[in-house]
Amino acid sequence: MTVPRVVVVGSVNIDLVVTAPVLPRPGETVLGHDFTQVAGGKGANQAIAAGRAGGSTALIGAIGSDAFGVTLRARLAGAGVDTSLLRIRYGASGVALIVVDDGGENSIVVAPGANATLVDLTAPELDAIAAADVLLCQLEVPVETVTAAAVAARAAGTRVVLNSTPVRELPDELLAAVDLLVVNHIEAAGLTNLPVVDVDTGDAPDGAVLVDALLESVPRAVLTRGADGAWYGDRDGVLEHVPAPVVDAVDTTGAGDAFTGALAVAWGEGRDVVDAVRWASAAGAGSVRRLGASVGLPGRQAIDELYA
Ligand code: ATP
Repeated sequence: MTVPRVVVVGSVNIDLVVTAPVLPRPGETVLGHDFTQVAGGKGANQAIAAGRAGGSTALIGAIGSDAFGVTLRARLAGAGVDTSLLRIRYGASGVALIVVDDGGENSIVVAPGANATLVDLTAPELDAIAAADVLLCQLEVPVETVTAAAVAARAAGTRVVLNSTPVRELPDELLAAVDLLVVNHIEAAGLTNLPVVDVDTGDAPDGAVLVDALLESVPRAVLTRGADGAWYGDRDGVLEHVPAPVVDAVDTTGAGDAFTGALAVAWGEGRDVVDAVRWASAAGAGSVRRLGASVGLPGRQAIDELYA
């Protein structure tokens, strides 16, 4: 089996995390417990996830000229991500200020910093996209850049996987270049104009209904549903529910990143797409057993064990 080449175009943040007994109210100062700094941002997390899952992974993104930028590059490189295409922009890196209370509730503010400057893809960046097996994107960097990357990938025969988060409208040009869309049910509702919950029953719309609606815009779609696993559908008529392995969940943050990174690798390896979704589900399940979004990502062996 050849190692698939995955290029991620996406965000890089430093997550500054303080645990505290309670979240502060407006104007209040709370004495917290511990402080940690970890690499974050969906681009960085999914690049690390793809690398842990066995892909040869490069990240096209932007960090600042501050000390956080130095830390971020070192953390990404240490996790096996190729950082040679990471841009350094004068100014601040992307920063997420996160408070987590004793009940696991959190409050987060993100300053995008350098991520907002990721525009106008360069020739080496476009070459890397063209040479990859899979391009993996999210929407935490300018959508024009994601669109340009997806269009270039499509023209070169590189498969395009889009994790459409956070919720926003997608340009037609981007949708036309997507091979596989990955969303959770809130994002799916945002894209399809279906309700997040049914007003009569209080339930989320059926997975099959959401996937079917997504297929009006893209040829293949995956809907993730937490512990309930994922739905996959395509325009060839496949529509399947893929259950997730049962695990003791400790921290569900980042399950989507683990899932999407592993899915890009498995599909890039040439696995059948439903089998790739099954393997990605094992990766998502593996990630919730450990605390921390980018530090709890499972390696290939752990994914294989849960997949078996
Ligand atoms: P986040 O934004 O927190 O990263 P998400 O909403 O994008 O998450 P989820 O649907 O929560 O993504 O999770 C992605 C996948 O991870 C699921 O489809 C499932 O396969 C797996 N997963 C998530 N939570 C659990 C769980 N508690 N038990 C088993 N598998 C899980």
